[in-house]
Amino acid sequence: MNVNCIQPKIRNMVQLIIDKFEEKDAFHLINIDDLVNKYTEFQEVLPKVFPFYAVKCNNDVVILKVLAALGIGFDCATKNEIQTMLSLGVSPDKIVYSHPVKQESHLEYAASVNVGLMTFDCTAELHKILQFYPSAKLLIRLSCDDKTSVHKFGNKYGCNSDIEAFELLAVAHSLKLNVVGVSFHVGSICRDYNSYTYAIKRSQKVFALGKSMGFNMNLLDIGGGFPGYNQIEFRKLGRVVNDSLETYFSSENVQIIAEPGRYFVESAVTAACRITCIKKRKENISYYLNDGICGSFAFTNFVRDPFEFKILNDLLDSELYSSIVYGPTCWGEDIVDKSVHLPQLQINDWLYLEHFGAYKQVFVTTFNGFSKPKMYAICSTNIWTLFKANFPNSEYKIQKDGTCMIIENNERF
Ligand code: PLP
Repeated sequence: MNVNCIQPKIRNMVQLIIDKFEEKDAFHLINIDDLVNKYTEFQEVLPKVFPFYAVKCNNDVVILKVLAALGIGFDCATKNEIQTMLSLGVSPDKIVYSHPVKQESHLEYAASVNVGLMTFDCTAELHKILQFYPSAKLLIRLSCDDKTSVHKFGNKYGCNSDIEAFELLAVAHSLKLNVVGVSFHVGSICRDYNSYTYAIKRSQKVFALGKSMGFNMNLLDIGGGFPGYNQIEFRKLGRVVNDSLETYFSSENVQIIAEPGRYFVESAVTAACRITCIKKRKENISYYLNDGICGSFAFTNFVRDPFEFKILNDLLDSELYSSIVYGPTCWGEDIVDKSVHLPQLQINDWLYLEHFGAYKQVFVTTFNGFSKPKMYAICSTNIWTLFKANFPNSEYKIQKDGTCMIIENNERF
């Protein structure tokens, strides 16, 4: 599907939700146009690579429905994620069960619903697969040089491409299992794109090894790690990946897939929260928000992910003051930012954060009985006409500016 759309203005959209729904609680706003643009861009930049969106990154149902309607595949880590995607009408052959260490009950479920493509990285996993799903199509997961990536997986998952890969393929062969290819993940937010080149080169070596043992190696899964909102970087990365595929896989009859998570959703979601209390102290100003580290800021807190507050209303005075931003729970450590310079804000002022769609909602807790942030979705009307059929139970309202607001179902609000 090739579509063009005009991006709705985020700031206006946030204001619109607050006005229209008299919103007082923290919420997230999904920009569906952005998801669609990402899909178009992915096809342009990596034309030989078919994307399987990593559901773990953001499992909001609107996002999943839109991506499913675009016809892409899905990377699922668990039974629940597989169940969700099947319930949205995605066919089993568009799912890769990408968790290298699978729970037995999840594997049994995958077998019962024919989700056969999956990864492994150790002997124990091969024996598990033999017991529960011996006809599965297996991808051997290689570890990667992920020194420069922000979130690393190399120590926890993957085998090396030398002795370990050889030994694992030999075990798979002796168990008469069906290895069909290689997968890797260079780590989330990869900063050195040569990591893809090394991994693709090593994948070719493992392909040759597999073939020499009699496996029909036909699938390469290049994982995730793509940037969430920097188009220039994504294009640079695309050139490196395309060149490497050309160098190491052009003569092979191989299907190439990827498992982008952050790439699809990071820029599509904006978080909005409100100041509910202010304490002025000698040394700083303390702001209390209605969202915090038990909510949308959970992951940013684990990994010290940077974020930037934007202020919704124009301020007369732009002088900055030393400030602390607290979350809403009774937990003393619920501190969103210990040291930030902000203009002087008032109770009821709204803050918003762009690029808040990756690994945020999925970590939200309901500690203290606080609700998860509400989800709203917005898209331009020409995009909406493409997706309407996928939201049969949703209400939608066309705005004066030509954008469309989707109200998925009442439970969400
Ligand atoms: N694939 C696997 C197996 C993962 O573990 C992850 C992230 O944890 C992803 C894909 C998505 O990675 P990213 O968000 O960096 O694209």
